[in-house]
Amino acid sequence: MKSIHKGHAVSQGIGIGRVYIYKQYIPQIEKEIIDSTLVEKEIDIYKSIRESAHIEISKIKHFLQDKNDIKSFIFDAHLEMVDDQVVIEEIHTQIREKHFSHRYAIRVIFDKYIDLLSQVDDILIKERIADLKDVRNRLLRIADGIPESNLSLLDQPSVIIAQDLYPSDTATLDRINVQAIITEVGGVTSHTAIIAKSYEIPAILGVDHILNEVKQNEWMIVDATAENIITNPDLDTIEVYKNKQKDYLFKQEIVKRYINTKPMTKDGTIIDLSLNIGSVSQEILENEQFVDGIGLFRSEFLYMENTQMPSEDFQFEVYKKILEKFKQKPVVLRTLDIGGDKVLSYLDMPKEDNPFLGNRAIRLSFTHQELFKIQLRAALRASIYGNLWLMFPMVGSIDDIYQIKEILESVKTDLIKNKIAFNKDFKFGIMIEIPSIIMVADHVAEIVDFASIGTNDLCQYLTAVDRMNPLVSKYYQSYAPSMFRIIKMAVDTFNKAGKPISVCGESGGDLIAAPVLIGLGIRKLSMNNASIPYIKRMITTHTIDEFEMIASHVITLKTEKEVIDYINSHLESEE
Ligand code: PEP
Ligand code: MG
Repeated sequence: MKSIHKGHAVSQGIGIGRVYIYKQYIPQIEKEIIDSTLVEKEIDIYKSIRESAHIEISKIKHFLQDKNDIKSFIFDAHLEMVDDQVVIEEIHTQIREKHFSHRYAIRVIFDKYIDLLSQVDDILIKERIADLKDVRNRLLRIADGIPESNLSLLDQPSVIIAQDLYPSDTATLDRINVQAIITEVGGVTSHTAIIAKSYEIPAILGVDHILNEVKQNEWMIVDATAENIITNPDLDTIEVYKNKQKDYLFKQEIVKRYINTKPMTKDGTIIDLSLNIGSVSQEILENEQFVDGIGLFRSEFLYMENTQMPSEDFQFEVYKKILEKFKQKPVVLRTLDIGGDKVLSYLDMPKEDNPFLGNRAIRLSFTHQELFKIQLRAALRASIYGNLWLMFPMVGSIDDIYQIKEILESVKTDLIKNKIAFNKDFKFGIMIEIPSIIMVADHVAEIVDFASIGTNDLCQYLTAVDRMNPLVSKYYQSYAPSMFRIIKMAVDTFNKAGKPISVCGESGGDLIAAPVLIGLGIRKLSMNNASIPYIKRMITTHTIDEFEMIASHVITLKTEKEVIDYINSHLESEE
């Protein structure tokens, strides 16, 4: 048994099966010069090769069309390559003028186009090389009289191992028996990756020399979730991975079933679910359709990812992009939350004995007002593109709120003076992370538009436990009744005042804490994208009464363990 950690997992999942080493036809063509009397005969042979290739490719295309598989379009492209008049003429010219054999002429012309594409920088164009090689090899294999081999019919669960797979190998894969794919070459945008992903077959590509490390028919486990390949595993290991595979498939099923579901309890209460993000990627923009907004944009990541202070224009573009995409859905932009464990190399931040109790988050913005104002200007300028909710981290007192408002006013005045547009109706809110602010929540609710509870820090400051210190982690109890009691105080006060209050700390996406939070009156939770389907499932399979009953019991309990045991025994997700 051996573990191999190489290559890139391009399609997630776990596959267990017997090694099937797949060796395609590899053309070995040397320069061949023919007698001038044979020119027309060579041209005729090339014509009949093209006809055979046409028949083979059409068969694959119809096989896919019969299954309504959109990948049949790949083979339309292959047919076009075989029938391309320019290519045909060029090959004829090689045969007629240089007296190359049909095999050598095919190679020369196809290799010319392969070389041309290799020089293009566009990664997607580069990937078309696989199609050209596929068609070239098909023509040369037919020329050599070798029958077509493919992976469409395997007799047992198998892990395919190959140097590379061409589109015609992957398109007709036996989807029942192919458990996983490993190749020595290929990247994230390769055909193999695209097809493995769409067939949901785990795949690790770019594993160099794998063909030298495995034996035909031996057992193999491919754990693409951990980029781990286990050769020749023992029975116990196979059993462990069968369970992991089951677990993985179960989770995938939940994601598929619930990602698009409306988060509404069985009796009709809607809970808004939003995303916690640290940057604006394509994936995040695509997830907009599944959520009600951005509940926490940790803007400090923009600062931490750069080696210098991000400019106002740079920030403006990022904020504009996300606001535009989310249109009327709220985007909660949290201002710079630096300090504690988060530092900026380019900012002078004197060492502190207790950084989590020190010049952190909003306090740091107060001491670096120029920097703070740049961010506020960028955010306000972007506000005209969507629904901006501006939120301030680690607010500990009403004084803090007054100070933020004063700075914000000066930024607004400046923008107005310079005739720079911004949306005057953007929302103003704070994070509730410090217990002291909850003690004056009634006053807070009068002067802010909304609040969001940061349970990660709230737990740290409530329990007096450094959230980064493993020595005291057992004292960091985010399910403790004390946490829910203090959260209840904030929720009750805000609900009474009619001001929105949400949770954006880890508890918001946590299957033990979230039901209690809903039961306490929270109607908006923000979390990482991966948690969304699980929370949707939890919401849609229960009633609001159940959540309220759970919450009212939880706050009467004494210890964190009692809370966890109670939730686990009272909240089985029914289907
Ligand atoms: C929190 O404290 O709960 C929170 C959401 O903020 P962060 O984790 O970024 O400190
Ligand atoms: Mg925090």
